[in-house]
Amino acid sequence: MQSGSIVRQATAKARRSVLLALAGAGVIVTVFLWQHMDRAAKEHTILDCLVEAYQLTADILLSDERLTMSALMAAETGKSSWSERYAKNVPVIDRAIKRAMEIAPPELSAKFDSDTRWANDELVDMEKNALKAAEEGDIEIARKILDSDTYRKNKETLTLGTTKFVEGMIGNLKSELEKADTHAALVFSLALVFGAIGGVTLWVLLVRNLNKSEAAFLEIENRVRHLAGHDALTGLANRHSFREKLATKLKSATDSGTHFAILLMDIKGLKKINDLKGHMIGDLVLTEVAQRFSSILGERGHTARFGDDEFVCLLETSDKNEAIALAEEFVTSLECPISDDDNSVKAGASVGISFFPSDSGQDEDLLRKADLALRKSKTDVTSNVVQYHSSMDEELEERTRLEAELREGLRSGQVVPYFQPIVDLETEQVECFEILSRWEHPVRGLIPPDDFIPLAESSGIIGDLTLNVLRSACKTVKALPGDFSIALNIAPQQIQDDWLVQGVLGVITETGFPPERLEVELVETALVSDLAAAKRIISSLKNLGIRVALDDFGTGYSSLSYLSELPFDKIKIDRSFISNMLQREENIKIVNAIIGLGRSLGFHTVAEGVETEMDADFLRKIGCPSAQGYYYAKPTPAKELGAVLKKLEPAREHREIA
Ligand code: C2E
Ligand code: CA
Ligand code: CA
Repeated sequence: MQSGSIVRQATAKARRSVLLALAGAGVIVTVFLWQHMDRAAKEHTILDCLVEAYQLTADILLSDERLTMSALMAAETGKSSWSERYAKNVPVIDRAIKRAMEIAPPELSAKFDSDTRWANDELVDMEKNALKAAEEGDIEIARKILDSDTYRKNKETLTLGTTKFVEGMIGNLKSELEKADTHAALVFSLALVFGAIGGVTLWVLLVRNLNKSEAAFLEIENRVRHLAGHDALTGLANRHSFREKLATKLKSATDSGTHFAILLMDIKGLKKINDLKGHMIGDLVLTEVAQRFSSILGERGHTARFGDDEFVCLLETSDKNEAIALAEEFVTSLECPISDDDNSVKAGASVGISFFPSDSGQDEDLLRKADLALRKSKTDVTSNVVQYHSSMDEELEERTRLEAELREGLRSGQVVPYFQPIVDLETEQVECFEILSRWEHPVRGLIPPDDFIPLAESSGIIGDLTLNVLRSACKTVKALPGDFSIALNIAPQQIQDDWLVQGVLGVITETGFPPERLEVELVETALVSDLAAAKRIISSLKNLGIRVALDDFGTGYSSLSYLSELPFDKIKIDRSFISNMLQREENIKIVNAIIGLGRSLGFHTVAEGVETEMDADFLRKIGCPSAQGYYYAKPTPAKELGAVLKKLEPAREHREIA
C-alpha cells in the first residue's frame, strides 16, 4: 500500500469517527435540552394554574363572606347601601366559580356543580329574599332567613364544597406536576441509556479507527525514520545516523573503558567510472562496495556511507592491528572487478584510521583525525591505509599558516609570473612564453609552484592567482618588441569554474592583450575529472580566439580518446619522455609516434624538458616543430626577459625591459 493512501485512509477514518461522535453528542444534548425546556414549560403552566386555583379559592370564600356580611348587615340595619354592596359582590363570586370550573378537571367541575353549586344558588336566593325583606322593612323576616338552619347548612356546604373543590384541583395539579416530573425522568433516563449505548458504540468505533490510524502512522513513521537514517542507494546507515551511533558508542565506551577504531574510506576512481561508464555503473560500484565492506565487517561494528564516495566504519576493538588488517581487507576486496552484464570496472580505496581513546576522546575530533589520515593515505604512494599521527595535525597547522601567508602574498603581489620561452626548432625563434608562477616570499625566499599551487587550489584562491599572474604577464609580454604568445596554466579544478573564461576575457580586455596570442594549457587530469565541463571551457576559449594546449601529454589515462574528442591546437610532450630520450629506445619511439600523430591530426607539437643541444637537434631531425627547456632558458623573471631574448635571438632588436 502506498504511504500516501494509508495516511489518507487513516485520517478519513479518524475524521468520520470524530464526526459521528460529534453528531451523537449533538443528539444527546438536543434531547436533553428539549426535554428540559418541555418540562420547564409544563411546570410553569401547572404552577400558574396552582397559583390561580389558590387565588380563586380565596376569591370565592371572600366573596361569600362579603355576601353573607352584606346580607346580615342589611338585615340588621335595613340600610339599602348593604343591599347595593351585596349586589356588587354577586357577579364577583359567580365569575370566580365559573373560572374555577373552567380550569378544574371536568369530573371535579361536575362534582362541584352537582354537590355544591346548588348550595350557593340557594344561599344567593335566601340572601336576596332576606335583603328584599329588609328593604321592605321586615327586618325580622330577613334575620330569620339568615339565622335559619338551612342558610347555615347551605353556607357550610358551600364552604366545604369550595374547599374540597379547590383542594381537589390543587391535588390534581400537583399530580400533574409529578407526572410531568416522572415523564421528564423517564425521558432523561431513556436519553441517558441511549446516550450511553451510543457513546460506548462511538467510543469503540473511535478507538478501533484510531488504533488502525495509529498502526498506519507508526508504519509510516518507521519508514520515514529508516529513510532518514539510511542511504537510499546502498541501504547502509547515512552520515547523520552514523554520527548519532558514534556519539552513543563514545559515551558507553567512556563509561565501560572499552576501545574502538574509526576507519574512513574513500573510493578511488569513482568519478572516472561515473564519467566514463555513466552513473548507473557508478551506483553499481557503490552498492557492491557497501556489500563487500558490510560482509567483511560482519557483527564487529557499524558501517555507513559517509559521503558521495566515502564510507566509514566503527570497529569495536582494542587491537590496533586488527583495525589496520580490516582496512587492508577492505582495500584488497576491491581488487576483484565489479561487473554487470556488459561492464566490468575496478575501484580502489584509501583508508584513514583513528583510535578511541588514544587519538581522541571526542567524536568529531576522532572523525577529523581519521580524515587527516585519509588525506595522507590518498597522497601516499606506499600504502592505502594510514593511521592517524599527531604530526598530521602539525602539518595541518603549517598548511593553515601557509595558506594565510599565500592569501596575503597574493594581495601584496608576491606571486609573480616567470617566463620560459618556447622556441621554434626550425628558425630558433622564440614563439611563446609559458607563464610559470613563483612566490617571492619575503622570508622563505623563492617558492616553486609545486609547493603552493596545490595549496591555492585547495584553499579556493587559484582563480585569483591565475588571473593575477595572467594580468602581470600580459603587461610584460605586451611591452616586448615581438608578437610573442603567452601560455597560461589552468589547474584541473578550474575546469569547473564558470567564471574562468569571463575572468580571462576581463584581463585581456583590460590589458589590451590580443586573444590570438594567448594559449591555455590543460592537463589530462582536468579532462578526466569532468569531460563535459572541459568541452564547455575549451569551446568558450576558442570562441574568443584563444588557443588550447594539452599539457604533459603521455602521462595521463587515455590521451588518444581526448585528442579525437577535443579540439586542441597543441600538444606538449611531457618532459619525462624527452629528458632521457636519447638513452631510451622506447622513448624515442613514443616521441616519434606523438609527433607523427600531431602531424596527421593537425596539432602543433612542443617537446618539453629539452636540456641539451643533442635533444634539440634530434627533435628537429624527427620533425618536432617546437621545444621548451633549460637548454634554451629556465623560467625567468620579467626583468631578465630582455637578456634572455638577447641571448636566444641575438639578431633581433630588443628593447630593454625595466
Ligand atoms: P608544467 O606546466 O609542466 O611546467 C613545466 C615545468 O617544467 C616547469 O616547472 C618548468 O620549470 C619545468 N621545466 C621546463 N623545462 C625543463 C627542463 O628542461 N628540465 C626540467 N627538469 N624541468 C623543466 P615549474 O615552473 O616548477 O612548474 C611546475 C608546474 O607547476 C607546472 O608544470 C605547472 O603544472 C604548475 N604551474 C606553474 N605555474 C602555474 C600556474 O600559474 N597555474 C597553475 N595552475 N599551475 C602552474
Ligand atoms: Ca604547462
Ligand atoms: Ca608540462
